[in-house]
Amino acid sequence: MSDTPGTDTISIAADIVGVDRVSPDGPGANTGLFRQRKVFGTVRPRTADEVRRLVAAYAARSVSLHAYSTGRNWGLGSREPADDDVVVLDLGSLDEIREIDVDAGWAVVEPGVTQGQLAARLDGTARMLNVTVSSAHSSVIGNALDRGVGLRHQRVEDLMGLEVVLPDGEVVRVGWWPDAHRQTPVYPHGLGPSLVQLFVQGNFGIVTGAVVRLLPRPEALRVVRLNFQSAELGEATAQLRRWQAQGLVSGVLKFYNPAAARGYGSTPGEWLAHVCVDGTPAAVAALSGIIVDEAVRSGVFTDVSNTDAADPASPHHEVTALVERSYLGDPDVTDTVFEAKMGMPADQLDERIGFLFFLPLLPFTPEAVVKADELLERVREETGIACGATGNVLGPDVVDLVVTLKFDRSDADVAHRALDLVYESFTEAGFLPYRLDVDHREWFDRCGGQPSERAFTRRLKDSIDPAGTIAPGRYF
Ligand SMILES: Cc1cc2nc3c(=O)[nH]c(=O)nc-3n(C[C@H](O)[C@H](O)[C@H](O)COP(=O)(O)OP(=O)(O)OC[C@H]3O[C@@H](n4cnc5c(N)ncnc54)[C@H](O)[C@@H]3O)c2cc1C
Repeated sequence: MSDTPGTDTISIAADIVGVDRVSPDGPGANTGLFRQRKVFGTVRPRTADEVRRLVAAYAARSVSLHAYSTGRNWGLGSREPADDDVVVLDLGSLDEIREIDVDAGWAVVEPGVTQGQLAARLDGTARMLNVTVSSAHSSVIGNALDRGVGLRHQRVEDLMGLEVVLPDGEVVRVGWWPDAHRQTPVYPHGLGPSLVQLFVQGNFGIVTGAVVRLLPRPEALRVVRLNFQSAELGEATAQLRRWQAQGLVSGVLKFYNPAAARGYGSTPGEWLAHVCVDGTPAAVAALSGIIVDEAVRSGVFTDVSNTDAADPASPHHEVTALVERSYLGDPDVTDTVFEAKMGMPADQLDERIGFLFFLPLLPFTPEAVVKADELLERVREETGIACGATGNVLGPDVVDLVVTLKFDRSDADVAHRALDLVYESFTEAGFLPYRLDVDHREWFDRCGGQPSERAFTRRLKDSIDPAGTIAPGRYF
């Protein structure tokens, strides 16, 4: 939706990027069916310097900006800003891998660089990217800045350095950056305050580049697939936690409720877990053997296998081979698993399907996981929406539970009521969200850290960005 005064406002950008990179249109439809904000238009800069000049020009006229990288933040708002009356910056054309050092394990990338693009550069090398299971065409930087979760760990752990345009147009580099004259170890914290994380879910500036860590590629890897019935959820959680706590698991252990497991070809009604082990071939053979052995002896699981990916005769062969490849840093540019889950190509989501995300953190205990399942069952009873739930185990004590609500676009009201119910009931149980969609900004005040911390964050924002130039309302 465009706004009449936007004609002048947006023409400021044309002087900087050229008329062909400026449009009076907003971001268009979003798959969450969140309210489309009233914006002045969309600008598509090509370089970091154009971003700097745009920020300076709009700050001087007290106009606010909302930036996205590739805008595939499906379920949380896609490309939609949190506030009305902003200019939208689409950074997808800043798509250069500026520098890469495979031996030392880092790459300097721009916001439009996708996980597929960076992974392709690492193909056949001893390094890999920590990829997510979102589309291969989503941004490495955009996902990390929203605290996204990859298959190896949370993406913020891969951010070594950031290049940021501050609200007054000054460009700063924080964290670790390559030194042309000597080799320094890749380490983001340096001396003094560690500033990289300030810009994650922070509207203190627009990120135009990042140093991303490249991980050593394991020599061998296997995913053990386990199925279990709902009645065994507590016991299965206890077993999975034990393997996690005892260091048998590599990468992010994942478990899926029956609605989410369908995307991986599981038997209807059953839960699914993927337990990844990697290392040297001997270590992988030993560890996956131990997990299979213990899983069978526990009597908790209906089906246990560590051979699906290797065995072409297995009914789960193709999907498990793709899952193993994604743990090895291949985001699959054909989006096969993504499309199987969503039922359509990624770039049709915003127009054709209703889809919402809720992302709380749970303690990794049987009680919490069972409670979360009960809360989702209550939502189903009250609204008729059967939520998908995927547990991403981030450590022995914490699970990122990805709750998904798929709905017909004509049922948006019911879906949003279900989303509100999930927010309320999970928060009451202590399962607080760690990412927010564009309509739930007030939850930053309801559960975003200590009151003194929120006040300090706002003091920082007021001193760095007194006019609210950058992404007003995006988190705070
Ligand atoms: C089937 C499916 C699977 C998914 N799997 C995963 C998954 O495994 N892990 C996961 O984390 N998510 C997942 N997602 C959610 C989402 O698609 C990803 O998080 C995706 O990477 C976000 O889109 P993007 O990379 O284009 O980021 P963007 O939409 O570009 O950015 C996200 C937000 O970050 C901020 N931002 C972005 N760029 C900048 C910048 N340069 N400067 C300042 N602020 C900026 C903005 O607030 C923006 O709204 C999945 C979604 C679906 C539908």
